[in-house]
Amino acid sequence: MFWSRKSAAPPPPPVTLAPKTFEPLDAFRENFPLAGTVALDRCPVCGGSEIGRLWQLPQSHLGAPTYLNSPGSPFHDFYLDYLPLLKVPQQIFVFDICRFCHSVFRNPKDDDQASYANDTSKVEAFKSQGTGSFTGIANLCEKRFPRSTRTVVDAACGAGQALAILRERHPELQLMGLELSRPSVDFMGSIGISAAAADLDLDELDSIVAPGTVDFILFYEAFEHVRQPVTVLKKLVRMLRRGGRLHFTAQYYGPESSLQVRVGEPIYIDRHGLDWVVSQLDADIHDLTVNIKFRVTLQKR
Ligand SMILES: [Zn+2]
Repeated sequence: MFWSRKSAAPPPPPVTLAPKTFEPLDAFRENFPLAGTVALDRCPVCGGSEIGRLWQLPQSHLGAPTYLNSPGSPFHDFYLDYLPLLKVPQQIFVFDICRFCHSVFRNPKDDDQASYANDTSKVEAFKSQGTGSFTGIANLCEKRFPRSTRTVVDAACGAGQALAILRERHPELQLMGLELSRPSVDFMGSIGISAAAADLDLDELDSIVAPGTVDFILFYEAFEHVRQPVTVLKKLVRMLRRGGRLHFTAQYYGPESSLQVRVGEPIYIDRHGLDWVVSQLDADIHDLTVNIKFRVTLQKR
């Protein structure tokens, strides 16, 4: 058949590019400013030094809620906040890839931590929208709780939305939130949820949560926003008792993904990278769901 003959044809030879005579991002920086303020010389996931430029994306913030309209396709109704518009000035987002662990990450990236310490957006979201959008993750936590769960930690807990749902359903649970945003921690205190201000990368956490004491930890939508996710995961696994579980999400690229690159997500990993991450931890994969992101539940050995 025509199609099968076509697909069996050998791939064209790789193109050799002429050497660059100048750096366009320097020469035209007024129209095409480079996004990000923190330059990385190592992979944020594995620490490897063999990193190189993969993507250079023009992106303009749309500023109005926009959704893909393609009924029947896997990406129908996906939310877009950026598109490559021809308007200038136009920010250019550069992503590198790590040769060893295959992570794709923004470089330079934004200094998420500096702006986030005084961030009030999560508290405002809780006050205006309640906890509705966290019902799904709270349900999933309940499904993954090990038997006789009593102690639950939400690391990078926002304003405590998931914890608030769990408290309502399970008043007997001991709940604790860890959060970088001071306004979020103060807010949780005001509604009676235990929370501590913590920088998960830099702070020593043993004095906040004793090692080996926790049944279940949620680390939701935060893997890509800490500086060194494996360092943080090691600290969290240390909190777990034997048989305790940790659920985390990570942005994913791979053959099943139909999501667009979103420049607000600074790290994407593939299955190879996920397996390497898990190999660094004193835990095994208990459950792995791959849809628009990795949803990983680990169980401590
Ligand atoms: Zn790496």
